[in-house]
Amino acid sequence: MSNNNGRRVNGSSESPILRADHVSKLYTDGQVTALVDVSLEIYRGEYVSIMGHSGSGKSTLLNMLGMLDRPTSGEVFLDGQPISQVRNLDTLRAQKIGFVFQSFYLLPVLSAMENVQVPMFEGSLPLAQRPKKAVELLELVKLSHRVNHLPQQLSVGERQRVAIARALANDPLLLLADEPTGNLDSKSADTVFDLFAQLHRERGMTIVLITHSEDLGLRADRVIRMADGRLMSDARSPGIAPKQTSGANGSGSDSGILGPSQSGSGLGLVRPPRPKSILPPFAIPDHG
Ligand code: ADP
Ligand code: MG
Repeated sequence: MSNNNGRRVNGSSESPILRADHVSKLYTDGQVTALVDVSLEIYRGEYVSIMGHSGSGKSTLLNMLGMLDRPTSGEVFLDGQPISQVRNLDTLRAQKIGFVFQSFYLLPVLSAMENVQVPMFEGSLPLAQRPKKAVELLELVKLSHRVNHLPQQLSVGERQRVAIARALANDPLLLLADEPTGNLDSKSADTVFDLFAQLHRERGMTIVLITHSEDLGLRADRVIRMADGRLMSDARSPGIAPKQTSGANGSGSDSGILGPSQSGSGLGLVRPPRPKSILPPFAIPDHG
């Protein structure tokens, strides 16, 4: 787990779970430059939303961070590991990252609990223990009464909760979600965001999600705004009270606006303060 990207913060060293280093993406198809020199770090236990107009590069960035696609230039590090040097990205991705998409992507012929077990084929849990784990995850997303339902027998909100349970199947290091409420009515969207908040609060889950909704996006602790393939701002959410953490660095009232980043490009880029020592009340699963 150790790597050489760590920095010492208040006497303890902490390394980003995810780091994008000068990442650019050119889609040769159409010669679209979708990302321009994006650098950012995501730390364990952070809850980050990415907002911006359609076409601003949000999905492209998330695809790079989630190793679904490779940058044209620059590098992405997962837990300190440069992904350009990873041979089997599919396996690494399946073991370390949980994805949630706008369109759920559930397999229509599989029940809820079978869908949740799909990523476990790339995990290490013995076959015999998978159904029990799937049921536990469905309980976590409050669907214990729907374990044998097919996707078409579920509401769209329930489908997305199955997809969230599936994203947690291999105890990932982090959850990435691209417009997870884009197909949901406002009540279901609210429920899904409550679930993300609960996963973050109670399990210390690191979450990066894209949303169009200003209201929902500001529920995250840190808000990144994009335009034209660039990061325009990156700040603690003003709408959130400082997290109650036991221990270090509990200073309140930070707006998170620290002034121009040293990596900024004259765009008024601002950085959040270093995340407070975020210690989940429950142990983060062992990913060994
Ligand atoms: P967002 O998620 O913010 O709406 P995207 O990251 O999907 O934005 O797209 C950023 C830009 O890249 C857009 O101009 C889009 O048309 C373009 N783009 C996205 N995917 C592709 C692709 N596979 N091929 C060519 N252009 C693409
Ligand atoms: Mg998108």
